[in-house]
Amino acid sequence: MLRASPISATVDFERDGVQHGHLRLPYSRDDSAWGSVMIPICVVKQGAGPTALLTGANHGDEYEGPVALFDLARTLRAEEVSGRVIIAPGMNYPAFQAGTRTSPIDKGNLNRSFPGRPDGGATEKIADYFARYLLPMADLVLDFHSGGRTLDFLPYAAAHTLPDKGQEKRCFDAVAAFSAPYSMRMVEIDAVGMFDTFAEEAGKAFITTELRGGGTATAESSRIAKTGVRNVLKHMGILEGAVEARTSRWLDMPSDSCFGFAEEAGLVEPLKDLGDRVAANEVVSRIHRIDRTGGALVEHRARIDGVLAARHFPGLAKIGDCLTVIATLSSKQ
Ligand code: ZN
Repeated sequence: MLRASPISATVDFERDGVQHGHLRLPYSRDDSAWGSVMIPICVVKQGAGPTALLTGANHGDEYEGPVALFDLARTLRAEEVSGRVIIAPGMNYPAFQAGTRTSPIDKGNLNRSFPGRPDGGATEKIADYFARYLLPMADLVLDFHSGGRTLDFLPYAAAHTLPDKGQEKRCFDAVAAFSAPYSMRMVEIDAVGMFDTFAEEAGKAFITTELRGGGTATAESSRIAKTGVRNVLKHMGILEGAVEARTSRWLDMPSDSCFGFAEEAGLVEPLKDLGDRVAANEVVSRIHRIDRTGGALVEHRARIDGVLAARHFPGLAKIGDCLTVIATLSSKQ
């Protein structure tokens, strides 16, 4: 039997109306002996109906989610809502404040920390609270991601292929409703500990995004996020009105062969940009040695035909960095 979470909410999830409050995580430290991490949370509820759990900054350096969700929390009125919307724009709040992927408190990567522990580090405590307290209330989770400081993605909403085809359909219907410029069927290279995996195993509809990256948001990626979240709420019947549908290209990540990793450190010369068509064995980028002139180049080649869906963002790469993700064009939705 797990102990109760040390996190307490200053909002009442069962009360109708708009509430802005915090999830208070006790965090005793040098500058605040009985201090807390205060994770912003907003609940907008009216009557009976489905619950959407909306999360941003699961990784602290990904900004479209926080932009869309702070904006939604500021503007959403209870009268517009049938059911409940739980909005956590800065899920791993210490990481979000620091502008880093992982938490500066314990180096925890929240999206590798599920199901978490009530008696673990700060990041595990946050994971445990979302897993055991917020997730059970939700019919659907929309967990925003982007590439962070080290990756840049085509803007897409995504879900996973799942063994339960009814559940999978609920996920992909919500991805279609989000109406990002691209929609993705994903595989994961490292699914253990992810919020996605935990929520999917709990039978929830779970969708995620990758909406550009590089440690910033753009005007376009912010618009995509803001429209997408309202579209998902309309799709669920929580908001009235028709989904603002736009054409979305469906992509697949069929296997591990999508991913390309640097086998040499150095200066990255991109030969393809995001969205460009790539053929199997084509050179996508080249890595130049930077310790001397006249050194040999390393060519980085695509392993499959497709489009460049993500790439390493910084100009310099380390050995082992993810350099490229190639997705295949899907004929079917
Ligand atoms: Zn992320």
